[in-house]
Amino acid sequence: MRKYFLIITSSIVLFLILGAAIFLISRSLSFQFFGEIYPNVVTSKKVIALTFDDGPSVKTDSILKILEDNKVKATFFLNGNKIENNFKETQRIVLSGNEIGNHSYSHNRLLFKSKRHIKDQIVRTDSLIRLAGYSHPIHFRPPYGKKFLMLPLYLKSDNRKTIMWDIDPESYADIASDSDKIADYVVQNSKNGSIILLHVMFREPSLKSVAVIIKKLKEEGYEFKTVSELLEFNE
Ligand SMILES: [Zn+2]
Repeated sequence: MRKYFLIITSSIVLFLILGAAIFLISRSLSFQFFGEIYPNVVTSKKVIALTFDDGPSVKTDSILKILEDNKVKATFFLNGNKIENNFKETQRIVLSGNEIGNHSYSHNRLLFKSKRHIKDQIVRTDSLIRLAGYSHPIHFRPPYGKKFLMLPLYLKSDNRKTIMWDIDPESYADIASDSDKIADYVVQNSKNGSIILLHVMFREPSLKSVAVIIKKLKEEGYEFKTVSELLEFNE
């Protein structure tokens, strides 16, 4: 009896440890089992990247205008299903000269999905980005930043980089709803080679914070780069 109790208890403990390990690895910004992953780049230069996830949406023209007015380029990680619904907006992002990345087709967690499903999510979105006229390399950012085994394995086989972030002001509830607090957080936490994550397509405070972030970081001597440009600085 005692033996069975020990076996069951240790199985539960092992199961919990394994679950915790998978959880931590799946959300890590800097580790995955296969391929290259970047939460930022390592550089002594004052360079930084703005990245905008999800969309496009009706906010596309607003964010493009802010970038144009401030003479800055950013990187948009777009979803295939949103591209289909906002195709003209996607074309305007292409024409604006900003970078476009792939953020999956339907924005579901690609944690324990089959290779076939993952490939379909990525290839469909790539095709739509190409259809909109984009001709540069397309990096990938996992929906919710979640990945485990099959996604990194597929990305490595496709010679793709996983782009994460190191500045995420929206993950703090007391900051996310206030554009001044978002800007302050970004400015205080940015460092050389940082990748800033904002959801400007759907979050008004985040959209409002962008002009302030650009102004203040420029005053500190930072130059804004697209993700591909930033990767060139990795030392
Ligand atoms: Zn997303």
